[in-house]
Amino acid sequence: MAGLPSFPRTPAEFDEMFATDHDCIDFLARVRWPSSYQCCACGNREWWLTARQYVCCTRCRRQQSLKSGTVLQDSRYPLKTWLEVAWHVCEQKNGISALGLQRAMGFGSYNTAWEWLHRMRRVMVRPGRSLLRGEVEVDETLIGGVKHGKRGRGAAGKTLVLIAAEMRGVAIGRIRLQIIPDASAETLEGAIKEVVEPGSEIVTDGWKSYLGLPVQGYIHTISRHPTHLPENVGSNLLPHVHRVAALVKRWLLGTHQGSVRPRQLQFYLDEFVFRFNRRTSSNRGMLFRSLVEQMVAHRPITRQQLINRRL
Ligand SMILES: [Zn+2]
Repeated sequence: MAGLPSFPRTPAEFDEMFATDHDCIDFLARVRWPSSYQCCACGNREWWLTARQYVCCTRCRRQQSLKSGTVLQDSRYPLKTWLEVAWHVCEQKNGISALGLQRAMGFGSYNTAWEWLHRMRRVMVRPGRSLLRGEVEVDETLIGGVKHGKRGRGAAGKTLVLIAAEMRGVAIGRIRLQIIPDASAETLEGAIKEVVEPGSEIVTDGWKSYLGLPVQGYIHTISRHPTHLPENVGSNLLPHVHRVAALVKRWLLGTHQGSVRPRQLQFYLDEFVFRFNRRTSSNRGMLFRSLVEQMVAHRPITRQQLINRRL
């Protein structure tokens, strides 16, 4: 029963793979313990599933819950619902809105669908993910609202977001998006340290807050003069972050009709990054695979945590 399972690539394959409850349990057990499952009591690697959906060691009969310690813990929903939601989240290139998920799953309320999507978004940030490296373009942009704002101060309804994008020639490597309270040197340096490996080359405009980056252990290159309108972020001299900014704004307006509240924005940005960094995956199945792997690797999330801004 050991070994990493294959993942579905089409709706038909999904239906075939997850026809029964047992299929779902067996699948998630193999994702959680890919070939390396070891009984915590005796070290045995062989196991079977009990009727009550526990993983049971074939030698000492020690039982372990498949769901405990993961986001699946305490969920009253069947495992198949989890897999179906993950599938809908990954099936379409741009993801799915709460309304779309409500329809696809036949959920009784919009709120149920909304909570499901947020649960999935929490899972999309892999704990201990690696930092960006090499040449990295960095800039800030304002998201939301309608009025223009002044750099470093923001404007009503707008949220300031740091964009970091690995430069692979004209192509974009991995990205990170992080809400920041202001564009001060302290804030920008702190945010950059969280997403970019020291020693990397950071390309920015001439905004004064970036000038201390060499002191923080980065190589700093200025590609243009400062602007006072963050809406103009990137222009042609920071083409990578400019493209990312345009894509994320279009995604928020398109898939989510621009209805994202500032306090929830970071989670939407996390979803965008999750998709963007896997955009070259050959099929939807790979995205689904990442999401399911992170589901069983992520610690439980309470409903209260879902609603609050911070975990
Ligand atoms: Zn054992």
